Amino acid sequence: MALFSDLKLNPKILNAIEDVGYKEPTPIQLQAIPAALEGRDVLGIAQTGTGKTASFTLPMIHLLARGRARARMPRSLVLCPTRELAAQVAENFELYSKNLKLTKALLIGGVSFKEQDQLIDKGVDVLIATPGRLLDHFERGKLLLTGVQIMVVDEADRMLDMGFIPDIERIFNLTPFTRQTLFFSATMAAEIERLTNTFLSAPLRVEVARQASASENIEQSVLIFKPSRKDREGTEKRKLLREMILNEGSDCKNAIIFCNRKSDVDICAKSLKKYGFNAAAIHGDLDQKHRMDTLEGFRMGSLQFLVASDVAARGLDIPSVSHVYNFDVPTNAEDYVHRIGRTGRAGRNGKALMISTPRDEKNLNAIEKLIQIEIPKIENSSLNIQNENRKEIQKNVAKRNTKGKPSAKDNKVSNRFSKSLATNQNEPTTSSEYKDEFQLPNFITKSFVERLSL
Ligand code: AMP
Repeated sequence: MALFSDLKLNPKILNAIEDVGYKEPTPIQLQAIPAALEGRDVLGIAQTGTGKTASFTLPMIHLLARGRARARMPRSLVLCPTRELAAQVAENFELYSKNLKLTKALLIGGVSFKEQDQLIDKGVDVLIATPGRLLDHFERGKLLLTGVQIMVVDEADRMLDMGFIPDIERIFNLTPFTRQTLFFSATMAAEIERLTNTFLSAPLRVEVARQASASENIEQSVLIFKPSRKDREGTEKRKLLREMILNEGSDCKNAIIFCNRKSDVDICAKSLKKYGFNAAAIHGDLDQKHRMDTLEGFRMGSLQFLVASDVAARGLDIPSVSHVYNFDVPTNAEDYVHRIGRTGRAGRNGKALMISTPRDEKNLNAIEKLIQIEIPKIENSSLNIQNENRKEIQKNVAKRNTKGKPSAKDNKVSNRFSKSLATNQNEPTTSSEYKDEFQLPNFITKSFVERLSL
């Protein structure tokens, strides 16, 4: 068994890792960390959930522990596609560098320019940024990138989805060509391949899962469903979803339920709540505070079922989700991989279940082609739960769901849902929706930003 102590990391970092409780490095950490410590470029092809964030933060902290930052010249740069992800990366730095004096700043929308200017003016070791905000600062003459020794691009495939590749190229060109580059992407689209060929120098290529493959510790299945009448499809699917949840019994500790449309996310969450499930919706039309509170509730365990649009599928690190339900077959096959990647993270086991109607056949085939396996099919009839068993399960669900009944506040939110439903009826959630999907996470307060510059 490989140990963190074999990785020749600074003992202060090893102590921090021990405090976090990690037992052994994940495969990507095992391969990427030694190469990064030697100063090599790394091209990591890995999804979230593989431990990729620590595979770049740990060697960076080690390498930056020596030396001092100069005013307005960050020594390293981490580019993330969204504020939410940037904030998660910042949290990782905070966690692993707690025994060292490293200064960090976060350049993301929602934090005032003034505070960030002050931090950067003093000089930072690590600058974590979204591309647009970084270029804003640069253009205002507040920042020089010529001191960047290490540059990280995280979730490059998502940057591509969001149209950030020209920004990334521009930023690469503003940093010294002698910099070390650590580059991560879940998939290697042609445009990303081109970028890495241009800007990485003889990188170590670390691929921890097959391209666009689903993690092997996720048990997948698909329920083939034909509605009795076309106009009853929604109602019957929601009933089926409840059955599928109940059928898992106590194995289903918590779940993310994905719908293709925002309107269905709302309807599905409301319907689950009505039937006593502890559920809430999250998608791009809900205001930032509401989304972050919902997500936090889910992380902390006070919310059991998160009904989501694809926005929640990428980048978010929610540990130990036992189940993912695809209420709809995603129209984009890669979204399936991202959706089910919310479960079975960091070596845990997970279950991913999907409902497929005859209309979804083409999309289902595309998914199976992409992941190169045939997803086991369940016939509708095999889901008949024994009546006695059902009563017992429902009793348990009711017991667990002390907050199952919609509160007055929920109702207020529901009214807002209905309004947004009226304007967004049938609006599909597309990849472009990821752009700026998450506003500033609520834990990024002024004091958090201050804390980052220890
Ligand atoms: P990431 O792929 O960076 O999003 O990490 C996914 C999850 O794995 C996060 O919750 C990390 O805290 C966790 N993690 C990272 N490295 C390890 C490790 N060596 N052992 C156990 N969990 C880890």
